[in-house]
Amino acid sequence: MPASLYIVATPIGNLSDLSPRAAETLASVTAIACEDTRQTRKLLDHLSLHKPLLAFHEHNERDRAPELVARLSAGESLALVSDAGTPLISDPGYRLIDAALDAGVPVIPIPGPCAAIAALSASGLPTDAFYFGGFFHSKTAQRQKQLEALAGLAATLIFYEAPHRILEALEDIEATLGARRVVLARELTKLHEEFLRGTPAELRGVLGARSVIKGEFTVLIQKGASVTAPPKLTLEEAVAALEAQGIPRMDAIKQAARERGLSKRDAYRMLNP
Ligand code: SAM
Repeated sequence: MPASLYIVATPIGNLSDLSPRAAETLASVTAIACEDTRQTRKLLDHLSLHKPLLAFHEHNERDRAPELVARLSAGESLALVSDAGTPLISDPGYRLIDAALDAGVPVIPIPGPCAAIAALSASGLPTDAFYFGGFFHSKTAQRQKQLEALAGLAATLIFYEAPHRILEALEDIEATLGARRVVLARELTKLHEEFLRGTPAELRGVLGARSVIKGEFTVLIQKGASVTAPPKLTLEEAVAALEAQGIPRMDAIKQAARERGLSKRDAYRMLNP
């Protein structure tokens, strides 16, 4: 077996989620590339393993990748882990894999925990198609653009978000996608694991009533209703119906467009050919 680079998934909370194959792989390699050496040292202590750790994170990935590939090419097998979950999923590693493959080094995944997949599997939302967006943008305007671009996608949307921005993210989901069903998966596999389900407004109410919002969150958003059941009204009829409810024309066009997965610009064009 030639020297290989193993991409090893590690627990996202519960250490018992580390697979026997992951433990065997960590025990067999020459060294382990990891994000935070203190974090990985805890995992190795739990396994009673002593291995050299090589710091490999988003700030040194570009510089460190050639050195790791040189070690692999010289015959050392290495493992890549992140602080938690599956490496490369909103975590560093892409450049290293690319460089290893270029050098002809086999890259072998050792699958295991991933917050996005664990959250999706228990969310109660459709799993036939899903879109993983990584972390939300941190600024409202960009976050809204990010969501608007996905309004017409026929898939459950999955994002990671920090606890101090979760209320803002819910506001933006409501502003861009409306009252869709949202699931917040918090602290998965940990002592205080919980799933919160409701509309963005309901969830803001629940979280807003807490004195402090903490823990790790994965956010899941149901696909738009228009995607599963095409609207029966034409765009023109839908806009007229919304205007009849007292909604200003511009807002009515925006809403009708969104429900049909159209951009505002396309909707204007269709209404004013
Ligand atoms: N590579 C990891 C994976 O496979 O899930 C994700 C790493 S990303 C840097 C960290 C983010 O994942 C957190 O900010 C949170 O949004 C989400 N996350 C990680 N652990 C989680 C958990 N136990 N429960 C809910 N979300 C979690």
